[in-house]
Amino acid sequence: MKQKTATPKDAAAVILLNEAGDRVLWAQRNPQIAFLGGWHAFPGGKLEISDALVSIENCQDKELEKFIACAAREAFEETGVLLARGGERLTRGQRASLHDDLISNRMTFAEILEHWNLRIDATDFAYTGFWTTPQFSPVRFKTRFFLAACPPKQTPYAAISELENVEFIRPTDALEKWKKSEVLISPPVLLSLKTLAEDGLKSEVQNPKSVSENLLENSQKADGEIRHIELNPRVVCFPLKTDTLPPATHTNCFIVGRKRFVVIDAASEDESEQAALHRLIDSFVENNDECLAVITTHQHRDHTGGETILQTHLRERFNLKIPLAAHRQTANALAGKVDFQTFIEDGEAFDLADEDGKPFRLKTLHTPGHAAGLLAFYDAEFGFLLSGDNVVSSSSVVIAPPEGNLKNYLSSLERLRDLPNLRFLCGSHGAAVFDAESKIESYIAHRFEREKQILEAIESGAKTTREIVERVYADVSPALYKLAGKSVEAHLNKLIEEGNLSRERYE
Ligand SMILES: [Zn+2]
Repeated sequence: MKQKTATPKDAAAVILLNEAGDRVLWAQRNPQIAFLGGWHAFPGGKLEISDALVSIENCQDKELEKFIACAAREAFEETGVLLARGGERLTRGQRASLHDDLISNRMTFAEILEHWNLRIDATDFAYTGFWTTPQFSPVRFKTRFFLAACPPKQTPYAAISELENVEFIRPTDALEKWKKSEVLISPPVLLSLKTLAEDGLKSEVQNPKSVSENLLENSQKADGEIRHIELNPRVVCFPLKTDTLPPATHTNCFIVGRKRFVVIDAASEDESEQAALHRLIDSFVENNDECLAVITTHQHRDHTGGETILQTHLRERFNLKIPLAAHRQTANALAGKVDFQTFIEDGEAFDLADEDGKPFRLKTLHTPGHAAGLLAFYDAEFGFLLSGDNVVSSSSVVIAPPEGNLKNYLSSLERLRDLPNLRFLCGSHGAAVFDAESKIESYIAHRFEREKQILEAIESGAKTTREIVERVYADVSPALYKLAGKSVEAHLNKLIEEGNLSRERYE
């Protein structure tokens, strides 16, 4: 089933510098939010129709006017900072009351500005380009970024419940947190922080223009496209378009390590997807970085196919002999299709090294259930789990017998949940998850809830898989009954295996 990628919605965001010009404002998104909950970001959000009603002074580029209005409105909504001339006449209490008018929809931003004789001047907003959310995301934005300075005597705060921990931070300190894997940072924010740190925001900010020019240049060079995500200095997530199950459209390929690295799930056979992946890996190899193996997590078609293409490419281009690696059960399942040279067992570790050559270990976890040979990988020092198809952020996971085994799957989930020092995870589909333990726990709870419902359906007289599906999945489209039937079967197998249901109870 071919899935369409989401069309990006217009949006704007502000890179807000403090008055001294040596710190930038970032905020942590509330971890409870489904989309990038817990991630750090700049204030910003979706363009609203009323943004076009705001009059902007001194704007050279008419196209940008509504985005400047959007950026100013979002900054005010989210952090209480009013980026409008004339705002210095207002007391903090007055600003709070205007903020209340805005978020309770009593007045639009345009009305507030007009009523209080406030003016938005385009020269206060330096355009620094746009970035588009990668295609693998179910929610996508084309966000225009603007550099602006926080007006004197205004202190940003978390003005809406979607945000927590709003703070001005030195770009170098923010990057340091990211380097230690203490935070997840969205790609445009990470790129901006790197540029801001390089430019060494000086206390005088005598020349903010050059900073914005450098930011703009980066965006233009990439045409605003984010092809991969640096989850931390050790892990690059490179989503590849695959023929996977909806709502996912992509499979995450991971490149772990740099000076010594492995590639996990080079998934897609698609030529242009492979070409994009090869460009990145080639750049590592050309830098004398060493590729240890190309690993396949499990045999499902959305995880395999590209590994042999990548292996061949590296041999032809660099004369490298990189082994293809997987669990033996995966290799058996793919016999005749993929020729694996290395078999990975549970507990085996890869000795990798980051960009600076600093060594670290990536441990293999054999986690059967979704597939018999499924592998997950854990960086215990960073508490970062690559959960494979055990846990994905975009949806729940299919356990389809005979290959899928729910009892094993739940044991694997419990094992992952109990990993020491566990912090973040990233599965094979969708974005990285900030609170790994809660996410895994919710997966386990979901299965037990289903089990309860299935037992209740049997108690109330359901005798066949179909009858159970009709009762338990009453809210699901009948088109998905076949898949739901597989899931019910997995539950029944588990109940029987555990002695909680006799085989005679259903057909
Ligand atoms: Zn799978």
